[in-house]
Amino acid sequence: MTEVTMDKIVNLAKRRGFTFQSSEIYGGLSSCWDYGPLGIALKRNVKDAWWRTMVESRSDIEGIDCSILMHPKVWEASGHLEGFTDPLVDCRTCKARFRADQMDQAQCAKKPSKKPGEHSECDLTDARHFNLMFKTFMGPVEDTASTVFMRPETAQGIFVNFQNILTTARQRIPFGIAQMGKSFRNEITPGNFLFRTREFEQMEMEFFVKPGDDDEWYDYWSKERLDWYKRLGIREDNLRLRVHEPDELAHYAKACVDVEYNFPIGWSELEGIANRTDFDLRKHSEHSGKDLRFFDEAARERYFPYVIEPAAGADRATLAFLVDAYDEDDADGEERAVLRFHPTLAPVKVAVFPLMRKEGQPELANKIADTLRPHFTVQYDQAGSIGRRYRRQDEIGTPYGVTVDHQTSEDETVTLRDRDTMEQQRIKIDALIPELHQRLAKPWQR
Ligand code: ATP
Repeated sequence: MTEVTMDKIVNLAKRRGFTFQSSEIYGGLSSCWDYGPLGIALKRNVKDAWWRTMVESRSDIEGIDCSILMHPKVWEASGHLEGFTDPLVDCRTCKARFRADQMDQAQCAKKPSKKPGEHSECDLTDARHFNLMFKTFMGPVEDTASTVFMRPETAQGIFVNFQNILTTARQRIPFGIAQMGKSFRNEITPGNFLFRTREFEQMEMEFFVKPGDDDEWYDYWSKERLDWYKRLGIREDNLRLRVHEPDELAHYAKACVDVEYNFPIGWSELEGIANRTDFDLRKHSEHSGKDLRFFDEAARERYFPYVIEPAAGADRATLAFLVDAYDEDDADGEERAVLRFHPTLAPVKVAVFPLMRKEGQPELANKIADTLRPHFTVQYDQAGSIGRRYRRQDEIGTPYGVTVDHQTSEDETVTLRDRDTMEQQRIKIDALIPELHQRLAKPWQR
């Protein structure tokens, strides 16, 4: 079994252009990350897979894309202004900051083997509540009237558009609205690479149901969301559902379960599925004065729907897919690092190589790469030995490699190499596109 550490993942991600520290040339901005060419391809594939599953492949979910800045009253109604806080504890001696509810995982800054408060020099303050919303100003005058917030979740944009979608998309309960986009939280203790950052992307869906049907839909979405990660290749042993204890529940939630992944930092939340009851629509009705109830024509009754919310993070999911894909094995007597991505998520689907830089092989390989490009993401590589080129592609998780050799010009065949089995098969150039389509569409498991 390969030991996967966060350091290995961060190093590979940097070396191969998945992620870079934000503003690196100025010393970096803590816990902010930029996605490089391979990272953005991977994250886009994760988001596309989510959108395809949650929106495009269903008739009962609509998509939406709301603005990040919203009317300040949204956050008053949702309770974020008042209650979106974490308890903050400072150490007066070493100036370190901790979340009071996460002290069991925290380390004393002076003596990392001890917990904060256990070292004799620790001088901890009482917990103070710290609002996690970022504030900014709209317009040129920095007065309180122009204060707006960077949204800390995408869900509220969905709730305030509930009536718009209901009327324009002609949906009936039960139905859902999905959104993905940036959210911002001034986290007290960000870190662990992409796991917890202050700016991140969420993938959220609010599913509106008739009160009384909520338990059934909650069970449905819990299972559905866990299965989504499995279908995209995450090993079952590394996934579990953890039901929240009553004392962990947000005051408005009837039930909540986390899809947890076994990250190198331990089992942690990947996604949460919550039964939010009718809290949000009711609050927005009260604060806006608009009736956000649903009118059931058949039963001739008006009610506030209950909401089941699967809320995932695109960056956290990308990290889980990276970690789970990481493997080291032996290739022809040499150790190789390989990212065993599900083909759907792999940033590059096919690499094309000339075996040698002579006999017209580079020209032919380039031509093949050009014919594949409209169908798949392709990389062309002619630098170094063929073994090294295979390793480079294995390390970024490219599932297939096509090699042009001296036989190609004689019989119009190339070799097709599989990342996982490392088997090579000779195949006609004409058959490459259908063969690759077929292989990439096959169900895949580690
Ligand atoms: P946590 O307990 O880890 O702070 P949360 O329960 O507050 O997370 P939610 O509000 O349920 O998280 O957000 C839904 C999802 O958004 C999370 O499951 C996670 O994938 C993602 N997410 C939340 N906060 C962050 C963050 N600071 N950085 C990256 N992803 C995040």
